[in-house]
Amino acid sequence: MTAVMQSGSTTQTSDVREVQSTSCCVVGGGPGGAMLALLLARQGISVLLLEAHKDFDREFRGDTVHPSTLEILDEIGLADGLHQLPHGKVYGPVVSAANGPFAPFDLRRLDTRFPYIMLMHQPIFLEFLTEEAKKYPNFRLLMGANVLELVEDSGVVRGVRYQTPKAWHEVRALLTVGADGRFSRVRHLAGIEPIKTSPPMDVLWFRLPRLPEDPQVPGGALVGALGRGRILAMLDRRDYWQVAYVFPKGHYQELRAQGLEALRHSIAELEPRLASHVEHLSDWHQFSLLSVESSRCPRWYKPGLLLIGDAAHVMSPVGGVGINYAIQDAVVAANVLTKPLKAGRVQLSDLAEVQRQREWPTRFIQAVQSFAQKRVVASVLRTQAAFRIPWFVRLFARVPILRDLPARLLAFGIWRVHVKN
Ligand SMILES: Cc1cc2nc3c(=O)[nH]c(=O)nc-3n(C[C@H](O)[C@H](O)[C@H](O)COP(=O)(O)OP(=O)(O)OC[C@H]3O[C@@H](n4cnc5c(N)ncnc54)[C@H](O)[C@@H]3O)c2cc1C
Repeated sequence: MTAVMQSGSTTQTSDVREVQSTSCCVVGGGPGGAMLALLLARQGISVLLLEAHKDFDREFRGDTVHPSTLEILDEIGLADGLHQLPHGKVYGPVVSAANGPFAPFDLRRLDTRFPYIMLMHQPIFLEFLTEEAKKYPNFRLLMGANVLELVEDSGVVRGVRYQTPKAWHEVRALLTVGADGRFSRVRHLAGIEPIKTSPPMDVLWFRLPRLPEDPQVPGGALVGALGRGRILAMLDRRDYWQVAYVFPKGHYQELRAQGLEALRHSIAELEPRLASHVEHLSDWHQFSLLSVESSRCPRWYKPGLLLIGDAAHVMSPVGGVGINYAIQDAVVAANVLTKPLKAGRVQLSDLAEVQRQREWPTRFIQAVQSFAQKRVVASVLRTQAAFRIPWFVRLFARVPILRDLPARLLAFGIWRVHVKN
């Protein structure tokens, strides 16, 4: 038995049942990986998308599709089709603070065909992208393919090895893309270490039923309630509420120890209209914990390998931009790499160019998130008093040239990304 070129394990060549080859092997069928695979497939590039799970229907990871993503889909003729699928729309939050309601921004004033955040169940969104990709014969999707090793040759990544329930398989690729999320195995195998910062909060996501007496939330379908050391944000999903309960970092075990009754009480205290809804919370399995993290890799690539999306940078949930940043990375990667992939030669400078175009928007938004976390989230979580919106924040939201900046940043990042090919 001969050992194959690999990183970090001792699998033998004889274990491999099949060796496939492709131009681009994308690891991870999340929003970033699915979008990149689709864009490359459109260009006639042979692309293999490997997804560890058997289907897209898994734990909640956010359902927001921002205006930037909708514009990107519009550019490739898919926005109308996406709108045929079940979805909701958010135009802007109304924050209920001790000194009255406050609307920090309104997406409806933006200059775009899509002045809202679409709320779509992520599995439906991912199915949509991959079904589109399947229309191209040069695209292949393998579900239940768990990538466990990199195939390397003299420091150049030449592909991956993945395991299905039945066997090991190997993929040889001109380019391997790690789009495998915040706990990226590809990143780890490549020896790339992210620089982490620790935002001051964690989030519990859960659903509450929509009851007949529930109000229609005017204009914006997102309501935030601040105060008493907790933050509650609610997204109106038409037939249910998607709720985020934000609490100080590292206190999850304490919450668990206090019990569900204490949590139900805390939610109802923050938003009294939820007093009867919380009775539906009877098991901790109804909650998804988001251990909030913010990180960025100093380098998103090495020869033969590129990282995108959460694998390259985990975004804090402030503004809910993780999905659209992963998608923007995918668009830039496709813009930059289509030609080299078609030519059969991807140079290190091509991979560096992807990072160059995406790093500053990422750094900028992370800096804004960090500011918001320190100045707003941390101070709300520290105080037991009901939160009051400072006067200067209210003033900012009234000045015409300033008031749309947050909405623009949230919708598009610091600049719009377009599909070039
Ligand atoms: C509870 C929660 C709520 C969130 N809410 C929001 C929100 O409202 N809005 C928002 O914008 N963002 C939200 N996020 C963040 C958002 O989910 C991510 O930023 C976004 O999904 C990143 O996309 P991605 O494609 O880079 O990675 P992911 O979406 O994480 O996709 C990675 C994919 O890779 C697969 N994978 C992992 N390892 C392997 C492997 N070894 N082999 C093969 N496949 C593998 C995974 O199964 C997964 O499908 C939330 C995250 C969580 C956890």
